[in-house]
Amino acid sequence: MTANLTYPSYQTGSGWAALLPKRTPKLVMPTDKSFDVAVIGAGVTGLAAARRVAELEPNSRVLLIDATTIGEGSSGRNSGFLINMPHNTNMAGHGSPAELARAQIKLLDGGLSWIKSLIDEHKIDCGWNPAGKYHAAATPQGEQSLRAVLEQYKEWGVDYRELGGDELKNTLGTDYYRYGFFSPNSVFVQPAALVRGLADSLPENVYLWENEPVFSVEPGKPYVITTRSASVKAGRVIIANNGFARKLGFAKDRVFTIYTYAGITPQLDDDELGKLGASPEWGAIPANRLGTTLRKISSGRFMVRSAYSYEKENKISDVKAMLKSLYAKRYPNMKSHELEHVWGGVTALTGNGGLYFGCVRDGMYISICCNGAGLLKCSLFGKLLAEMACGQQSNELATVMGFDRPSWLPPEPVRKLAIVSAINYQKFKAGRER
Ligand SMILES: Cc1cc2nc3c(=O)[nH]c(=O)nc-3n(C[C@H](O)[C@H](O)[C@H](O)COP(=O)(O)OP(=O)(O)OC[C@H]3O[C@@H](n4cnc5c(N)ncnc54)[C@H](O)[C@@H]3O)c2cc1C
Repeated sequence: MTANLTYPSYQTGSGWAALLPKRTPKLVMPTDKSFDVAVIGAGVTGLAAARRVAELEPNSRVLLIDATTIGEGSSGRNSGFLINMPHNTNMAGHGSPAELARAQIKLLDGGLSWIKSLIDEHKIDCGWNPAGKYHAAATPQGEQSLRAVLEQYKEWGVDYRELGGDELKNTLGTDYYRYGFFSPNSVFVQPAALVRGLADSLPENVYLWENEPVFSVEPGKPYVITTRSASVKAGRVIIANNGFARKLGFAKDRVFTIYTYAGITPQLDDDELGKLGASPEWGAIPANRLGTTLRKISSGRFMVRSAYSYEKENKISDVKAMLKSLYAKRYPNMKSHELEHVWGGVTALTGNGGLYFGCVRDGMYISICCNGAGLLKCSLFGKLLAEMACGQQSNELATVMGFDRPSWLPPEPVRKLAIVSAINYQKFKAGRER
């Protein structure tokens, strides 16, 4: 919450992490403080990058360092949809949007297979469920925008199934929505369990250091990384700390952060779960960006995610009241709308949805800007960035290097004014989608 911190600090822990046994973070400072590669940030990007460097260079010493405990960053506090569909297909200058979408889908499918292979190999128990997802609209405007999405899906050759209000009521257990569609291109995970599993199965040449914020990175040969309690040297550095890369001096005029919020119910009994639709697990994405995501979780709880705030976390008691009211509007017949865990999480966005990716100077590589949905995408980009840092070339890397770069953002206070106005306008437009 403190504006000057170089890393995220939240009012409450991740609700997903709270459902797991308490983690013992790896806090031991390395005795030998010289590394071949240092990766800053152990979310999905950094975890993928550190793993891939270590695989490609088994003799290299790799440091993976995070300001928080694994599972407490955004990668462990999201809604847990691994989405293998494009998020931004309007990047000019790189072929038609349809071609770009197909290239992104191919990349994401490869990334999904890679993550699945790691889950199988290391027996990571993270509730992997390739159940797909619903998109649901509560308003005529929402319906119109979902129908426009389906026009794109047709062009891209992507599967979907349309649903009317009655079918949605049977599936989701609420008559709040009037129109929607099902898309098979999404997998559910328990996100904190996923990142913990990935962290605890890293190759032996990765040295993981948790709860250790990085304060600065000084260029040179080697790079000097100053953390809260030490100074570490590394021949190459991978920056994977998402929006907080700005605090280390990167992409300040390209990236802004948005906080969004989620809550999870206590364990529900069979009667209550029955009111949330027949299937033991489903998820629904809103028709408007400022709308509300819902997820019925196979372990017998329900999750609600909603709202955006610019650059800082809202008061958590207000967030809880807001999420409960959104839940109650959709499911007025539940015995209670209590939420056991409520939390905020930060995401990094760019003005045009562009990706900040690549070599920024000799020996320094960066992949940031999840643009709100990066669980799968950022894992893949972390892997590809590591391959770049190890001197590899591939068609996948060439495709990613062809994506647009983030557009310039005006400085404060104009930036805040523009973004907060856009959020408020979208909020107004969202109406009942919220
Ligand atoms: C509530 C919510 C719901 C979401 N739902 C979804 C979803 O369903 N599907 C989806 O795909 N995406 C979702 N997202 C977005 C997703 O969580 C992010 O896209 C993803 O986590 C980005 O991964 P990352 O590794 O790039 O960044 P992060 O997960 O943010 O990881 C960066 C890491 O860097 C660390 N760090 C920061 N600064 C420093 C520093 N100075 N020193 C050391 N370490 C530092 C942080 O502690 C953090 O662990 C959601 C996000 C939120 C908040």
